Amino acid sequence: MKLLIMGRPGAGKGTQAVNIKEYYKIPHISTGDMFRAAIKNETKLGLLAKSYMDKGGLVPDEVTIGIVEERLLEDDCKNGFLLDGFPRTINQAIALDSFLTKNGVKLDAVLDVNVKPEILVRRMVGRRVCKTCGATFHVEFNAPKVEGICDNCGSQLIQRADDTEATAKNRLEVYDNNTAPLLEYYKKQNILKTVDGDQPLDKVFDDIKAVLGA
Ligand SMILES: [Zn+2]
Repeated sequence: MKLLIMGRPGAGKGTQAVNIKEYYKIPHISTGDMFRAAIKNETKLGLLAKSYMDKGGLVPDEVTIGIVEERLLEDDCKNGFLLDGFPRTINQAIALDSFLTKNGVKLDAVLDVNVKPEILVRRMVGRRVCKTCGATFHVEFNAPKVEGICDNCGSQLIQRADDTEATAKNRLEVYDNNTAPLLEYYKKQNILKTVDGDQPLDKVFDDIKAVLGA
């Protein structure tokens, strides 16, 4: 099972990635983890990536692609993998395709865990966090017993600065602008599988298993 998972911020992609990894027994390859590992192991590309990050710049595509390729050539990826956070651009998707073709491998499916932006905005804007113990609540979906007060420790609940409506909308817009061409690219290849992410988590996973046909 060679998969790629996508989803808007807050759509629950992370939870489903864990489910997929455990159920299909394939490694979950997230770009963030991969970068950290490459830097920690001081691979040539890891050090190169670090030199860009230390300067506060973006890591160029060819370095990112190289790190992903290094990872995909490891033994545990022989029977499948779940890519997460890569590719992010058409350029990266084309590079991934040519690498996979060269190695006689094909992506089986690109999963899009789809939740409408307006629902995600509602989820983000209603989120409240305890300053002291870190417990999270939601004014609509998981309200504390007393408004503004943590059930666990009695401290005050706050709204994170990046959980405002404007920030949430902006993040989602940036995501959609970047990924729309990517979704179109995989749709043309007939491997894009969209699942409704606005359901209970176990139902979302049932749908994922159904679209993957296994
Ligand atoms: Zn608390």
